[in-house]
Amino acid sequence: MAKSQSAKKVPTASTLTKSGARRRIEQLRRRIEHHSNQYYVLDSPEISDAEYDRLVRELRALEERFPDLVTPDSPTQRVGAAPSDAFATVRHRQPMRSLANAFDEEDILAWARRVQTVLGEQRVEYVCELKIDGAAVSLTYEHGTFIRGATRGDGFEGEDVTANLKTIKSLPLRLRVDRPPALLEARGEAYLPVSAFEAINRERAVATEPPFANPRNAAAGSLRQLDPKVTAARPLDLFIYGIGAADGIDVRTHHETLIWLKATGCRVNPHTTVCRSLDEVMAYVREWTRRRTDLPYDTDGVVIKVNSLAQQAELGATSQAPRWAIAFKFPAEQAITRVNDIRVYIGRTGALTPVAELEPVRVSGVTVTSATLHNEDEIRRKDVRIGDWVIVQRAGEVIPEVVRVLTERRTGHERTFSMPTTCPSCGSATYRPEGEAVARCTNLACPAQVLGRLIHFCSRDAMNIDRVGPKLLAQLLQGKLIADPTDLYALRREQLADLERMGDTSARNVLDSIAASKRTTLARFLYALGIRHVGAHVAEVLAAHAGTLDRLMRASFEDVRDVPGIGPTIAESVTQFFRQPENGRLIDRLRTAGVWPVAPAPIISTGPLAGKQIVFTGTLANFSRGRAEALAKERGAVVSTSVLKKTDLVVAGADPGSKLLRARKLGVRVLTESEFAKMVGTQAG
Ligand code: NAD
Repeated sequence: MAKSQSAKKVPTASTLTKSGARRRIEQLRRRIEHHSNQYYVLDSPEISDAEYDRLVRELRALEERFPDLVTPDSPTQRVGAAPSDAFATVRHRQPMRSLANAFDEEDILAWARRVQTVLGEQRVEYVCELKIDGAAVSLTYEHGTFIRGATRGDGFEGEDVTANLKTIKSLPLRLRVDRPPALLEARGEAYLPVSAFEAINRERAVATEPPFANPRNAAAGSLRQLDPKVTAARPLDLFIYGIGAADGIDVRTHHETLIWLKATGCRVNPHTTVCRSLDEVMAYVREWTRRRTDLPYDTDGVVIKVNSLAQQAELGATSQAPRWAIAFKFPAEQAITRVNDIRVYIGRTGALTPVAELEPVRVSGVTVTSATLHNEDEIRRKDVRIGDWVIVQRAGEVIPEVVRVLTERRTGHERTFSMPTTCPSCGSATYRPEGEAVARCTNLACPAQVLGRLIHFCSRDAMNIDRVGPKLLAQLLQGKLIADPTDLYALRREQLADLERMGDTSARNVLDSIAASKRTTLARFLYALGIRHVGAHVAEVLAAHAGTLDRLMRASFEDVRDVPGIGPTIAESVTQFFRQPENGRLIDRLRTAGVWPVAPAPIISTGPLAGKQIVFTGTLANFSRGRAEALAKERGAVVSTSVLKKTDLVVAGADPGSKLLRARKLGVRVLTESEFAKMVGTQAG
C-alpha cells in the first residue's frame, strides 16, 4: 500500500494543479492498465515490478490528494485482471484479494499500529510466511474430493484451470482425513522451481523464443494453457497458505489452519513462524531478506498475518486486500559485474537489440550472463561501454537490467559502442522510424530474419517440429534447400541425407516430424505464423473464439478487437497480417502442402441452443460450471462471461449476482437450471 512517505517522494503529487493531476492520473491509468494486461493476461511484462509499483504509488498519491478524481475503474481499486474468455469462469465463494505492500520496516510498523488501533488492548500474535512468487490459485474440495481449481482473475471471478492443476503431483486429489469437511476452498500459490524455470528458458533460447520474464510469469503462463499436456510438461508445484471458504473445519488461528491443511496432505511451506512480538517479525524479515536465494523457488517477500481468526474477522478487508495481512517486498537484488562485450541480435521482426554480454554473476539465485540494453538511447542514457563495471539487478524480470555504470572504476580502456547502421547479418541499411526507439533491418529477406521466422515456425509451442532445430534450419537455408516454411514440406530424404552429420535414419526422423506437424491445432498454427503481438496465449484465445482459420481471416478489426483479452493493438496487427497478399499466398501454399489446423468439433446448427450466445451465473445444483458450459458448446452455443445486448440466454443458478440484474435490465431471456437441463436433454452432470 502506498505510504505517506512515498507520496512525498513523488514531486508531482504535491505540486500539480487539479487539472494537471487529472491529466497525469489519466496518463498513469493508461500506462498501468497496459502493463497489467501484459502481466496478468499475456504473462509477458514489459517493465520491472519495481517500476510498475512506482507507477501505482504515484497514482495512489495523486488519488489521495484529489479523492474526487478516484473512479471505480481506477487500477488502484481493482485486483488483477478479468478472467480470459478462453476458459470457463469460476466465481469465488470468497473474493481472492491482493495484499497491501510494505517496502521497508517502517511500513510494517505503520501497518501494525493500524492493526493495534482497531484491536485496542488485545494482544496480537503474527504468523510470518514466505511470499511465494507464483500464481494464486483456489482449490475447491467437496467432501474431501478435489472438484475444481481456479486462478484469481479479478478477485471475484477466475479461470477454471482444473485440468491443468491436476497435472501438479503434490496437489491432493482427495484430502487425507477421516471425516473430510463438506466444503474446503484452499488457497495457494502455483509456482515453478527456479531450476525448471531456467531449463525452460534455456530451451526457449535455443529455439530463439522470447524467455519468460520470471518464474512468476512462467508459472502463470503454464497454468493458463488451454492444452493440459503443455502444462504437464512444465513441472509446476504448489504451496497452500490458507483457506477461502470452508464448512466443517474447526480452527481458531491461522497457524492451526496451516497445521490442519498439512495433515490433510496439502503441501504447506515449512518456513512459517508464529511471532509473539514485532521484534520477532523483524528478525524473520531480516533473516529471509538475507537467505531468500538459498531456496529452490523464488520468493518476492514475506507475508505477515494476524494469527487469530477472530481478530482477522474484526479487522476485515478493503475491496482489494485484507487489513490483517501485509506483504513485505524484498528490495530488488543487485550484483556487480563486468560488460565483456555488446552484441546486436536481429529478431525475426528485424528489430536490432543490443545485449550486454556479462561476466557470469549470481543475482537472486539465478546466474546472469547477459542483460538487455533495449536500444541505442538506453545505452547512451546509461553510458554503458565495453569493459565497464556495472550494477545489474533482477527485480521481477528475468532479463536483468543494467542499473548504472560504476564510472569510478573506469581505467580509460573502455570502448564506446555505437549501433551499426547496417544489419550485422545481411548488410542492408537499418531504419529507425521517427519517434521510435528500435532500429530495424529493412530487408525482409535478411538471412537472420528468415532464420528467426523459420525457427519460430518449428518451435515447440508453434508447429512443434522437434527434429528441426536452429542448426539444421541454418544448414538448410545455406544449402538453399528451403527459403520459407512451405519448403520444409517438400524436402526429400536424399536431400537431407546429403547434409553433413545426417544419416539415413536421421533424415527419415526429420521427415516424419515434419509430416506429423501437418495435423496441428489452430492456436499453434496462428502462433507459428509469427503475427506481431500474437504470442502463444493470444493465439489460443483467438483460436478458441474464431474456431476456424477461415473465420479469423475474414474477421473485421472490430470482431477481433471485441474478443475479450485482445484489444486494438493485437486486432490491428492480426487484420493487417491477413490483408497482406503475400501472407495469404503463404497460407495457401501451406494448405496445398497439406498443412491445415485440425478441424474443430462440428458445430451443431440446429436445436434450441445452436448459435446462441449464452452466459451462466450463480451455482447450478446438478451441473458443475465446466460441465454445463461443455454441454452448451456441444449443442452449438457460444459461452461467454459477460451479459451484453447480443446475449441470447442467461442461465441463473443459486446466488446469481450482477449478471442476472444486467440480463433483466437488457431484457435477455433468463433460464432456470431445470429449463436449461431440458434444453440440453440431460438432468445431471
Ligand atoms: P502481490 O503479488 O504483490 O501479492 C498478493 C499475492 O501474493 C496473492 O494473490 C498470493 O497469490 C500471493 N502470495 C504468495 N505467497 C503468499 C502467502 N504466503 N500468503 C498469502 N499470499 C501469498 O499482488 P498482486 O496483486 O498479485 O500483484 C501485484 C504485483 O504484481 C505488483 O506489486 C507488481 O510488483 C506486480 N505487477 C507487475 C507488473 C509489471 O508490468 N511488471 C504488472 C502488474 C503487476
